[in-house]
Parts: sequence; structure tokens; C-alpha cells
Amino acid sequence: MTYDLSPRPLNPAPSAPHFDWPHGKKSALFIGFDVDAETAWIGNNHANVDRMVTTSLGGYDARVGIAKILDLMDVLNLKATFFIPGWTAEAHTAACEPIVRAGHEIAHHGYLHKCPDRNKLDEAREEIDRGLAALKSRLGVTPVGYRAPSGENFPELLAYLSERGLRYSSSFRDDIRPYRHKLADGRPGPVEIPVNYAFDDWNFGITSRLDGRPLFGRDTILPLWREEFAGTHEWGGVSTLVLHPQVSGRPMRWRILHDFLAEIAARDDVWIATGAEILAHYEASAAPA
Ligand SMILES: [Zn+2]
Repeated sequence: MTYDLSPRPLNPAPSAPHFDWPHGKKSALFIGFDVDAETAWIGNNHANVDRMVTTSLGGYDARVGIAKILDLMDVLNLKATFFIPGWTAEAHTAACEPIVRAGHEIAHHGYLHKCPDRNKLDEAREEIDRGLAALKSRLGVTPVGYRAPSGENFPELLAYLSERGLRYSSSFRDDIRPYRHKLADGRPGPVEIPVNYAFDDWNFGITSRLDGRPLFGRDTILPLWREEFAGTHEWGGVSTLVLHPQVSGRPMRWRILHDFLAEIAARDDVWIATGAEILAHYEASAAPA
């Protein structure tokens, strides 16, 4: 692989179009949970499969985290999008079925959570195909949304998402409003619902024996989330949450997330929507594909 380092916008997508959020709302909130389970620990480091304590961090999803997150959504009467790797759907089918039954959106999050790598095109496409097959066979779902495992993407993968019927992506960090990707051959690609690193619970809420990252509690997280939300709201953007049951399904973190979401849910000027709902609104209101 040679690298084209010539100066150009590395994301050729045009600017986000202007459109109003539904019902006169000023901004949108997109609640996304990545149900990585053990794939977060074995997808990019296969040797971890023989480290039961390391993988038990992800095992928390099926034993506790998913159910607690579903309780939270139920308590607050909210609908969310759950990005589920195919491996998770196969290994923990019984834990994932209640997500479907509760009426939440199921979206694609790879198969074994391998970070997409442009030097391994076959592997990247296989992750998409196996993920689609697992969501269909285990959960009866054909997803329209995709969040890249480990948050990476490249032109051939964007084109493959479109080819396989994945109509929105929620991975890029380069905007605060949805926009449509432009594929390398000039055709329109998936709609991007960009994520915000400030709303990724992994950054503040998980550590492990061999990794000395600090944990941050309510006094750090709530002001940070409130401030980022207030700014995004003021600018009419979408606050996209990147949450994980193995992080936010922990007791302390559940309480922090509960209080943050309850504050937003109590407002009447925020549209709380799933990725599929945001996609549908974009396609109905913004520049057509
Ligand atoms: Zn993930």
C-alpha cells in the first residue's frame, strides 16, 4: 500500500445542509449504545480470548449491563439505538433479544469488532457480511445504521456500506450536524450522524488491571456533558452519545447517565431520536441523495 499524502480535504463530503429539526425542536439527541461485550477485548487482540478476567469486563454486558440499560430507557421512556457486533448477537442472543422486544433500534457494529483497516479489504468486507448475517439470523433484524468498531473508516468501506444497504454511519467526528458522504466515484454515500468524543463514556469510565487510566465520577462528567450539550443545542446540532453497557451499565455510571438524560428528557426543545429516525428526517428534509 502506498499512501497519497497530497493536500486535499480527506473527507470529500459536502457541507452539512441546513434543515430544521422536527416539531420546532432546536437540537437533537441521539442515544447510541455499543454492545461490544467481549469483542471490545478480543477483536483487536485475539490473545485476550484466553484471559478470562480481561474479557470479563465485556462479559458484564450480558450478565448485568444490557438489562440495566434497558431498565434505564424504560424508566425514562426513551428509545435508543443499540450497535451490536455480530459476535455479540451470536454469543449472547438471549441477552440481546429483550433489546429488540423493547422496540429499540438495532444497528451494525462489525462482527468481531475488528478495527477497519484499508490494508485488509477482504477482512473489512467480511466483518460487514458476517455482522449482517448474525443480526438477521439471531435477532431477525436488517439494520440500516452502522457504527465502525474502534471508530475507523476508509473510502472502500463507505462504498461497501451503501452496497450492503447500510444507509447511515455514526462514526465520524468532523461535524455537529448530519451530512451525506460522497463516495470516491462521486456517488452519494451513507448519511453521517457524527459522534462527539466528549460523549463517549469509554474515555472516562473504564479502566483495567494493566491500564492505569483514571475513572471520573459525577463531579467531572455531569458538568462536561451539560456544557457540551448546551453548546451543541445552541448551535442546533445533534448530541450523539457513544455509550457502552459495560461502562454506563455500572452502578455509579448508570446514576450519572440517568441524571443527564432525565434533564434533557424534561425539556421540550430537544428531539430525542434514534439513528433511523434521524436518517428518515434527513432524507425527508435535507438535500435529497
Ligand atoms: Zn464498539
